[in-house]
Amino acid sequence: MTAHTFPSHRGVMFYRCLGCNAEHGTDDLLYICPRCGAVLLLEDRRFPELRGKGGTYWRDLFDARAAAKRPALRGIFRFYEITAPVLEEEDILYLGEGNTPLIAASPTLRRLIGRAFAFKNDGQNPSASFKDRGMACAFSYLRAAVRLRGWDDVLTVCASTGDTSASAALYASYAGGPIKSVVLLPQGKVTPQQLSQPLGSGARVLELPGVFDDCMKVVEFLAARYRVALLNSKNSWRILGQESYAFEVAQALDWNVDKVCLFVPVGNAGNITAVLHGFLKLHRLGVIDALPRVFGVQSHHADPVYRYYAAPEAERVFRPVEVTPSAAQAAMIGNPVSFPRVRALAEQYRAVAGERAFQVLQVTEQAIMDGMLTANRHGHTACTQGGECLAGLRAAVAAGLVDEDEFAVLDSTAHALKFMDFQNLYFDDAFPSEYGIKADPALVNAPELLFSSKERRGPDENAFVRESALRIARLLGLTETGGG
Ligand SMILES: *Cc1c(COP(=O)(O)O)cnc(C)c1O
Ligand SMILES: [Zn+2]
Repeated sequence: MTAHTFPSHRGVMFYRCLGCNAEHGTDDLLYICPRCGAVLLLEDRRFPELRGKGGTYWRDLFDARAAAKRPALRGIFRFYEITAPVLEEEDILYLGEGNTPLIAASPTLRRLIGRAFAFKNDGQNPSASFKDRGMACAFSYLRAAVRLRGWDDVLTVCASTGDTSASAALYASYAGGPIKSVVLLPQGKVTPQQLSQPLGSGARVLELPGVFDDCMKVVEFLAARYRVALLNSKNSWRILGQESYAFEVAQALDWNVDKVCLFVPVGNAGNITAVLHGFLKLHRLGVIDALPRVFGVQSHHADPVYRYYAAPEAERVFRPVEVTPSAAQAAMIGNPVSFPRVRALAEQYRAVAGERAFQVLQVTEQAIMDGMLTANRHGHTACTQGGECLAGLRAAVAAGLVDEDEFAVLDSTAHALKFMDFQNLYFDDAFPSEYGIKADPALVNAPELLFSSKERRGPDENAFVRESALRIARLLGLTETGGG
């Protein structure tokens, strides 16, 4: 096999129940265990055979494949054998997802924070968030199912804090044919940019008063009783695709993730599930020989996972929380569907790498916005959840949790542009009081109007240009060159 041909290896995938440990075949699209109702993860019966080839084989193959020109291998399926090695090339839907850049903190920002770190800009995915990684995998599986079973009508549904619906609608509209997309949004709780995305893709957009957790319950009810394909991260195929984030971080650091710690925002907890599972796979395969440390980060306005781990081990009970408004709106979830996955994987992770290898931090709304704005003033494009990660790194450094020689990778899960309304609220110092966010004048910026339209009198273009230029020169203290 060369790196440029489509892989011939095929795995045997099955769902593993995290509640009763049962195994279920993948002929049906399952979201929960039919026996006990717990969440599932996908595994490959032939994974142990892959191990036999040794870490060097896989590192070389994945590196060589980075130059592959086949569209099916250019995105998340560069890591085909450890992702979903049951899909055929014709089923793979590639819209440019994955392969997002890891951008080192600007020198000034690095000095300010006191640690070396980088943002991985997952906002540079096609619908401008990391959700595309999982959606590419879920839709590829769906296309295979449509082809093999001759379905003529597939309705996909999802609840969303904004980005899942943008991504689902994008992939559904591209796939076309029998695949149609309906998205359910909490009214007024996604940004205008996020709302414009499924509308532009032609999806049917339904809204409910309430928060994401309400919408999630409704789509779960639908998926349990009607023939619909659920595209939330309860769908384990999405988790598989999102594991590519971990694989890419390891590859970008030349497979050396010792002394690396990742900061990941936690909402429904699908992303951090994928990060933990992804690194565990690389470690079991011998591709990396140490696990990086993983910090989950939550806002104090939506922090059920933080609260769980903050309690002494013997007293830990998971309790959903009632969320209050958060600028990290894409992670504003009080009852994360993937929490049982996190609990199971964190235990495995800590068993290999120790207690410090997995931790969850809590940050304030103020720190989230200050984090986003501080990052972006230094040449980054962080969304509010990226700001949450920077707030997490700052909190971890302050608490002495990050060593001087460690390198942090911060997940900017979406593009800054999706969250511009939060920046505007900050610049206008107009956050509703529930957020508890005040503008730091040092971070505020605003346009300066040179002329009011009333001041701009008369038809003389030359005089207008001259007067404007003079005002600018005065304002900026420019020195005349005497030229003409
Ligand atoms: C969905 C989302 C999150 C939260 O990810 P989970 O997998 O739900 O924990 C964070 N940031 C952005 C931009 C998102 O779209
Ligand atoms: Zn079960």
